[in-house]
Amino acid sequence: MDGVAIIQYIMSTSLHQEIHRITDTEEHAREFLFQRGILKATMPCPGCSSPMTLVACSSSKSSDLLVWRCPPCKRFKNIRSDSVLSGQKLSFSLFLLLVFYLSIKSLPSVAIRQLIGVSENTISDWKTILHTRVANYLIANPSPIGGPGVIVEMDEAKFGKRKYNKGAYREGQWVLGAVDRNTGHCFLLPCPNNKRDALTLLPLIQRWILPGSVVYTDEWAAYNGLTAATYTHHSVNHSIQFVDPDTGVHTNTQEGLWAHVKKSVVGATNLELALVDFMFRRRFSATGGCHQISNCFNGYLSVLKA
Ligand SMILES: [Zn+2]
Repeated sequence: MDGVAIIQYIMSTSLHQEIHRITDTEEHAREFLFQRGILKATMPCPGCSSPMTLVACSSSKSSDLLVWRCPPCKRFKNIRSDSVLSGQKLSFSLFLLLVFYLSIKSLPSVAIRQLIGVSENTISDWKTILHTRVANYLIANPSPIGGPGVIVEMDEAKFGKRKYNKGAYREGQWVLGAVDRNTGHCFLLPCPNNKRDALTLLPLIQRWILPGSVVYTDEWAAYNGLTAATYTHHSVNHSIQFVDPDTGVHTNTQEGLWAHVKKSVVGATNLELALVDFMFRRRFSATGGCHQISNCFNGYLSVLKA
């Protein structure tokens, strides 16, 4: 679906009403941000540590019309303090709309700009904030794939026929990828120092694939140590055929995944963050369509918590 078709589809669902309900006024948006923990629900006074209380204020004091106030020492604090919105000018409703539209896979930035009237830079800045939060979340919660008897397909691919911005990624970055055939969950990791020998790959594999998994790969020599590392390992010789006629072993799911990944990181300024966002979205892709957008939106909100 292109941008227009995606928007028409969204407009026809109850999700659109839901988003409208939480963003129709700044007050509703602010309330929602407090509920979701993106704005802090409690605030200790920086001076005396007493719990501060929320009080209405004039627009000259804060455009959010609400501030934290310490009853004993009368100090004030902005309600955006200690949150992802701290120091940001974006209104609460625009912030929520932006996160919502970023949850829609393949909706181009230009469409988001037209829909909510924010600049290209604002979209790009928030994308970076969001993807950095997602990356930190995945590092803290690696959630490995596979498990005893579960088939995992693994492969390496070279990314970046184009040059990524500012030389952060040299041309031809190797990425190790694997997909769980049961859940469709995946991991995509740039190979450290662009190496793909056993010494480099095995620690990544052991962190991201559960012991006892059945791992299908091509015949790349770095994978020879997999059996010793508690996996059942089958390989297929890609220079002869893509499905082993005797065992039926193939890595076509991973091959298909590479096509999706390569499409979704086109134009990314930071390959690693774009890969991380792809992995994050995959965790919410089981149900598809509207649920997928809603789940991704909720997932994004959870990583944006204060
Ligand atoms: Zn105080």
